[in-house]
Amino acid sequence: MSLELSSKSHRELLSSSYLERVESWGMSIYAASYVYRPSCITDLKNIFKLAKETGRSVALRGAGCSYGDASLNSENITLDLTRFNRILDWDPYSGIIAVEPGVTLEQLWKKVIGDGWWPPVVSGTMYVTMGGAVGMNYHGKNNFKLGPIGEHVLEFDILLPTGETITCTRKNETDLFYSAIGGFGMLGCFTRIVLQMHPVETGQVEVTAFATDSFQHIYEEFEQRAEAADYLVGWIDCFAAGSQLGRGQVHAARYLSAHEVYLPEQTLRIENQDLPDTLFGIVPKSIMWRFMKLAANPLGMRIINSSKYALGRTIGNNKTMNQSLTGFSFLLDYMPGWKRVYSPGGLIQYQSFIPNENAVKCFEQQLMICQKRGIVPWLGVFKKHRKDDFLMSHAVDGYSLALDFPVNDSNREQLKSLTDELNSLVIQSHGRFYFAKDCTLTKDIAAKFLGEKTLRCFARLKKKCDPQNILQTDLSRRLFGDWTQFADDLTGSRI
Ligand SMILES: Cc1cc2nc3c(=O)[nH]c(=O)nc-3n(C[C@H](O)[C@H](O)[C@H](O)COP(=O)(O)OP(=O)(O)OC[C@H]3O[C@@H](n4cnc5c(N)ncnc54)[C@H](O)[C@@H]3O)c2cc1C
Repeated sequence: MSLELSSKSHRELLSSSYLERVESWGMSIYAASYVYRPSCITDLKNIFKLAKETGRSVALRGAGCSYGDASLNSENITLDLTRFNRILDWDPYSGIIAVEPGVTLEQLWKKVIGDGWWPPVVSGTMYVTMGGAVGMNYHGKNNFKLGPIGEHVLEFDILLPTGETITCTRKNETDLFYSAIGGFGMLGCFTRIVLQMHPVETGQVEVTAFATDSFQHIYEEFEQRAEAADYLVGWIDCFAAGSQLGRGQVHAARYLSAHEVYLPEQTLRIENQDLPDTLFGIVPKSIMWRFMKLAANPLGMRIINSSKYALGRTIGNNKTMNQSLTGFSFLLDYMPGWKRVYSPGGLIQYQSFIPNENAVKCFEQQLMICQKRGIVPWLGVFKKHRKDDFLMSHAVDGYSLALDFPVNDSNREQLKSLTDELNSLVIQSHGRFYFAKDCTLTKDIAAKFLGEKTLRCFARLKKKCDPQNILQTDLSRRLFGDWTQFADDLTGSRI
């Protein structure tokens, strides 16, 4: 449906019929916003025009899988881009694909796998859009090896709020290329993204699972195995304390080649990748979260974490098995609706990225602070990263720990105070943060981790691409205001 902006008055377009409640993925925050779902560039331009003429701001939104307020825009306009969902071009010989921004990661892998390709970087869920993925420059369990998705973007078209479309590559419009990727929708709207896929001989990985006793132990295992593994991910039992602090389990995976798999061609077929709908062929997975909900309290979660560790330490230790690429990559999609375990208050994810030399100590301290305050994360995930060249990068040569906290009316204030303390610790440890997960940072902390020079460079581009500051979100206002304080000229800077 076209918005038919020309036939509707501003009053009609900003009427309550377009007002919707838009939630963060973590369900802990929401906004009332005028939501439009255009499907053509003309309508995108019309919405930018509407925003300018009525003094409203516009947030770009993909699938809304950011945990916090990165694609919320209270009392303003939200552009839901999920209808831009066409695959524009696919070359099975070179592995180069061009997509519209609303194409999901699920559409992407389903398109390419049969030809022996796989997205080089995937997130823990396949339901994200590629516009959102590039907007946040997401990383996967192979960040230490292949970098973030931005390293595999060859080219993109970006529509600026001024109405101009610019084609960016590493060589053409270099500054915009390295800033719009990871630019959290602040500089313009990707309308076409060209990506290089990764060749695979089979649709399977060999996964080895083993238990680890502490942060030091998991760190050493990751360092040792990084060369041979294609993917590494660690799970941490956040309830374990004292000498058991940081205990957990590692999954190390490597792509299997054709000679290692029976009927390799078959493993590349979509039907041999799709996640099953039922558990043991009987229990629908869609109802599983209801059983999990019975354990949705600190004691239940302590028991689940301890049991998982005990199993991983005994029968699951040093076990190797072959798994489909989707089964390994999208573990979180295995149980549809699992986030409802955290309802009604929802959850926040606190992910910090700490350089190698400080990682173990910082993560130990983080968990000790949580335990001391009696707010223990229900899930902890440990990953290895490497630095990249993107201006607003969240990555470091080091490690990240992602902590899932339940939110409810009685712990909001305590959580705020806890995350304030964790934020200071991360800054002291020279760490960084990731806007896709954030809802706890303050202006001061964001300025400290990004640094003045980076912020000025970004603000200068913002002024060039979006002089009227049309593109905003609740996150951008929370962390950067209207950008004016960073906008001074910076002679000699890269941008
Ligand atoms: C279960 C789960 C697991 C996850 N696992 C990982 C993981 O392993 N690694 C990781 O890095 N992240 C992970 N994430 C986070 C997720 O990858 C990012 O939040 C991603 O950006 C979500 O994409 P989206 O389409 O939902 O975008 P949204 O959340 O809707 O938007 C994300 C950002 O992109 C901007 N944007 C959206 N579309 C465009 C566009 N066309 N042009 C310009 N900007 C745009 C938005 O303004 C916003 O700032 C996970 C999230 C979930 C829910």
